[in-house]
Amino acid sequence: MAQRQFDVVVIGGGPGGYVAAIRAAQLGFATACIESESYADPKGEVRLGGTCLNVGCIPSKALLRSSELFDEANHAFVMHGISVENVKIDVATMMRRKDNIVTQLTQGIRGLFKKNKVTLIAGRGSFAGREDERWQIAVTAKDGATEIVAATHVIIATGSVPRQLPGIPVDNETICDNVGALSFTAVPKRLGVIGAGVIGLELGSVWKRLGSEVTILEALPDFLAAADPAVAKEAWKIFTQKQGLKIELGAKITDVKLGKQGVAIDYETQAGAFTLECDKLIVSVGRVPNTAGLGCDNVGLKLDERGRIAVDEHCRTNLDNVWAVGDVVRGPMLAHKGMEEGVMVAERIAGQAGHVNYEAIPWVIYTHPEIAWVGKTETQLKNEGIEYRAGQIPFLANGRALGQGDTTGFVKMLAEAKTDRILGVHVIGTNASELIAEAVVAMEFGAVSEDIARICHAHPTLSEVMHEAALAVDKRPLHF
Ligand code: FAD
Ligand code: NAD
Repeated sequence: MAQRQFDVVVIGGGPGGYVAAIRAAQLGFATACIESESYADPKGEVRLGGTCLNVGCIPSKALLRSSELFDEANHAFVMHGISVENVKIDVATMMRRKDNIVTQLTQGIRGLFKKNKVTLIAGRGSFAGREDERWQIAVTAKDGATEIVAATHVIIATGSVPRQLPGIPVDNETICDNVGALSFTAVPKRLGVIGAGVIGLELGSVWKRLGSEVTILEALPDFLAAADPAVAKEAWKIFTQKQGLKIELGAKITDVKLGKQGVAIDYETQAGAFTLECDKLIVSVGRVPNTAGLGCDNVGLKLDERGRIAVDEHCRTNLDNVWAVGDVVRGPMLAHKGMEEGVMVAERIAGQAGHVNYEAIPWVIYTHPEIAWVGKTETQLKNEGIEYRAGQIPFLANGRALGQGDTTGFVKMLAEAKTDRILGVHVIGTNASELIAEAVVAMEFGAVSEDIARICHAHPTLSEVMHEAALAVDKRPLHF
């Protein structure tokens, strides 16, 4: 068979990779995407969508929603005069719903590949060398068969894998990473979590709402250190005092023993040495870039000091016509950041001016209340010696929040003192994930807080709190 040749070959079919492939094909390039995983597809077909669709963003949000409804039925309906008795959760049904959503979306990407004429190649891709200005990529299928394809441009989008802790063997039965934690077959009575980061808080919340006793062990002495301090403080109060999540800060894990009945975790804090016994343990201590088996050494592809593929601001690697996007490169490990990089690279290959504004990438933590932010925190502004004005307004007096029965949290806006330019917006509250979009648009357009203060916001909506926060920057809120 003659060698298959493409203008662009993408290695990895997660959000960074599949979006890069679609955009490259839209721009007229003969494009292929190599994807290795089957992610337990019932038909054994390779599944697109990567961590995000299969074992990350999408399944976790499906479970979060189910657990929120369970929690509301148990605790929130009553204030509306609705009584329900004997509320039960059928974990198998909840998981089936989640799996169906995943299947629908992964199949959808296959459809998008067909529509855009992207060739899907199943197997593991690795660099084999370069001939006649073309990269030679070896694709090894599950049965061991290898094909070499040629590519003028290569986009690496191999993502990330969970970071392992020494002496804590993940079996995805009792000790789980995100894969096992999204597929429990029953609600564990006692759930331990190592790492109070995004996964620990989101999945800890799911199982807590469904009835588990949840204890999270966090190494750092500060809670949610990346968030604005006011948000972290509010979240701590809500999660630990109102919702009953037990979070131990400054915890050093000293031993983990796997037994027939579960797992025992020895740990130390300033208060002494303790043992946490639980039925399941989730290890969520961050993720590491996935470059294993990619053949970086075969072609001299440079990695940075943290094992990520080294790239410039346009995701160019040190090799000619080789690019890398998503979790495998610097920057936050977020699906939307990878997607934007995929578009940027495809457009750069086409000679266009694709770019990503890394200053305006939103963060969302899908706990309840949700936490979302864009731009700098107050801590960062202080550390950088930037003078600022802050406006902070709670949801407490907002008519829509009251109507919805959920008034927790606030919107906080930070603007440069001299220019009034918005430098950061931080939201903790219902629908923070959607509200933050207004702040992202504002920051992308270089808006000042006065711009948001002068924009008409629909009434009654939660977005009025964003409006009031902007007015509060100038100390003239109308409803607070
Ligand atoms: P990945 O999604 O990891 O995709 C990489 C793909 O490359 C995989 O399909 C892999 O099989 C394939 N691959 C790897 N090596 C090879 C090879 N050699 N050959 C062929 N194929 C290969 N982000 C958000 O923005 N919002 C969220 O709500 C969110 N929730 C998350 C929840 C959880 C539980 C987890 C674990 C992550 C979550 N994330 C979230 C992060 C998000 O999933 C990642 O940032 C995103 O998936 C990264 O996309 P990517 O394309 O870089 O890599
Ligand atoms: P994370 O970086 O958010 O949190 C890891 C936590 O583990 C940190 O607080 C860290 O201090 C702690 N930790 C590290 N080593 C430890 C140890 N030995 N003992 C105790 N604690 C320890 O990582 P994650 O929660 O694993 O999630 C991985 C990545 O996936 C995130 O960084 C994020 O980029 C992405 N993600 C995003 C979302 C979202 O956007 N909503 C959701 C889930 C995951």
